[in-house]
Amino acid sequence: MLVPLPFPGPLDYLAPMPLQPGDLVAVPLGKRDTVGCVWDTASTVSADFATAPGREVPLSRLRPVVEKLDVRPLPGSLRRFIDWVAAYTLTPPGLVLAMATRIHLKDAPKPSLGWVRTDQPEDGLRVTPARRAVLDVASSTPMTTSDLAAASGASSAVIRGLAAAGLLREAVISVAAPFATPDPGHGAPKLSEEQADVAQQLCRLVKDHRFDVTLLEGVTGSGKTEVYFEAVAACLAEGKQVLVLLPEIALSAQWTDRFIRRFGAEPAVWHSDLGAKRRRETWRAVADGTARVVVGARSALFLPFEDLGLVVVDEEHESAFKQEEGVMYHGRDMAVVRARLAHAPAILVSATPSLETLANVEGGRYRHELLTARHGGATMPDVSLVDMRSDPPERGLFLSPVLCNAIDETLKNGEQAMLFLNRRGYAPLTLCRACGHRMQCPNCSTWLVEHRARGILTCHHCGHTESIPSDCPQCHAEHSLVPIGPGIERITEEAKLRFPDAKILVMSSDTLGSPAATAEAVRKITDGEVNLIIGTQIVAKGWHFPKLTLVGVVDADLGLGGGDLRAAERTVQLLHQVAGRAGRAERPGRVLLQSYVGEHPVMTALVSNDFQTFMEQEAEQRRPSFWPPYGRLAALIVSAATADAADALAKEIAFAAPEREGVQVLGPAPAPLAVLRGRHRRRLLLRTMRGIAVQPILRDWLKDIKPKGSAKIDVDIDPISF
Ligand code: ADP
Ligand code: ZN
Repeated sequence: MLVPLPFPGPLDYLAPMPLQPGDLVAVPLGKRDTVGCVWDTASTVSADFATAPGREVPLSRLRPVVEKLDVRPLPGSLRRFIDWVAAYTLTPPGLVLAMATRIHLKDAPKPSLGWVRTDQPEDGLRVTPARRAVLDVASSTPMTTSDLAAASGASSAVIRGLAAAGLLREAVISVAAPFATPDPGHGAPKLSEEQADVAQQLCRLVKDHRFDVTLLEGVTGSGKTEVYFEAVAACLAEGKQVLVLLPEIALSAQWTDRFIRRFGAEPAVWHSDLGAKRRRETWRAVADGTARVVVGARSALFLPFEDLGLVVVDEEHESAFKQEEGVMYHGRDMAVVRARLAHAPAILVSATPSLETLANVEGGRYRHELLTARHGGATMPDVSLVDMRSDPPERGLFLSPVLCNAIDETLKNGEQAMLFLNRRGYAPLTLCRACGHRMQCPNCSTWLVEHRARGILTCHHCGHTESIPSDCPQCHAEHSLVPIGPGIERITEEAKLRFPDAKILVMSSDTLGSPAATAEAVRKITDGEVNLIIGTQIVAKGWHFPKLTLVGVVDADLGLGGGDLRAAERTVQLLHQVAGRAGRAERPGRVLLQSYVGEHPVMTALVSNDFQTFMEQEAEQRRPSFWPPYGRLAALIVSAATADAADALAKEIAFAAPEREGVQVLGPAPAPLAVLRGRHRRRLLLRTMRGIAVQPILRDWLKDIKPKGSAKIDVDIDPISF
């Protein structure tokens, strides 16, 4: 029995009722009951012992299962997936199970019951007028006691009497399925020749019911979504379920609209902000197969699909697929595993595929389909650099004259412009002009970010918040604190002054708190109620804004600092994605990148729209020293309440480091955030050649290391920054 707690494996229980693997049950644990899942059953049971593979348990030691829950058993493919994720991420399997059953299974709605007429004849029974009235109304469709009483004018006692006489019996009233069935033929578009070829390939894979991974690569606006919708349609026609993963829920509103247009019904949506009732309904509908298509965040991988026939990962390169807390797993990679265990094809979709996926294509492990042209004759946007060294903004401002003129022109033409800056708030640093003091988070090794609209300084890592002091806390100089650098609030302030007539809309997680707010913002843009959009990375997502023709990247260099080997790849992907919002319809788009490092390969790649050469260069940098994807990597994050304790544990781990060919340990070094939420962090990296798995090495390495007191070790397999 697997219980959703950090035990190393399943626990043993006595089953007073027949149970099979996958059944969900209530079991006693300590003083309380918890929901568990039957993982395997004993192969033999004698008078005193139960024998399971590898162990024998005396029956007298076992506590009995309390009850079997009224839900479908977890399918075998999901149980195998849970075991797989646990083994791969070195997580206790119960914690992975917890992700699959994180709904209140126990307070499942009781099915409501009604009365139906049985086929027993009335012969020999005294039929009073009241009984007659009930029998005339009752049919094979169940009616509740109160409905039946109201319709017949008889009392509930009369109804009970008829039931006792065998003329009525109770039956479950089935509620209308809250999930409509998508129609594969509803709004099928006319595909271009190139699109149709690719769609046909994907549909063939779906019909083969075999595991297979395809990278669907295509420039932004080439119709990737339309094309994989064809594969979704094929899967629906096969009578199987589909899972589509999106990196962020913010995207799902526009995606859902498109889905409805294509399939005439809503998909089931799954993410962590879903209300408890909706979660439960969706979970059950996925389990019993009434939900045919699920679109969700990575946690949707743990839904109990009855018969999964296709997994799609849209924007597969997005780092948002990586879960960085709790069970640290990469949604894209686990989606491939999920598909494999369900014997279903997987499609990874991107305009800027990750180096991991490209390496899998190159190694012949993934298939590759390419869409080369934007749909409907739309051209790719023209990307150019604004060299901030030769063309700087005025003192204290952040928008260069070139960019401002381009915005003027765009707005004058009745088109939309977008300013992109991947930084929330007003300013990333607040500094004392008198003594140089920097406002720092008391719990983390980061600066506090000013959010002027709310009058606060806040830490984006731990949430620490304080009001903006009027004097420097260090030297007490009056009014000496100044904001350094821009966040989008500050850019918005500048834009309001510079473009007083523009209708500005700000898109960031601060202004778009809910999916509904996001949907409303998208509507305003699509309907042309605004013409200058200012946003953080939320605007980079797969939006389709037909009137948008100019994108200005306020600080193209922003992601490049920090010494992360993956920074360049991530910056290219993000900026290419942002650029791809421009000129998606009839009017051509253009993109201006404000940069101080115009000669950087990232800028060259973006300006020449030559993503391939850039990725080849990236590959050549990583291949010789087997950085991912040419080798395997795990990060050990050691943390403790004091720097000394963190150092001591890190040293102990380093001392026990494995020594063998093809395996290398780097560090310990301060972790990228050396202090986070008051904990001091050190990092070690374990790097192996591709053929050597990191999990057995880590297990062996860490088996005798017992962190003391507050100290702890977190293992991150395939960390996304290194
Ligand atoms: P991508 O996902 O590659 O960025 P989309 O699938 O969003 O591209 O397509 C871009 C736009 O072109 C969307 O509005 C889409 O509906 C439209 N489109 C693409 N292909 C077709 C087609 N064959 N027929 C009609 N509209 C299409
Ligand atoms: Zn903090």
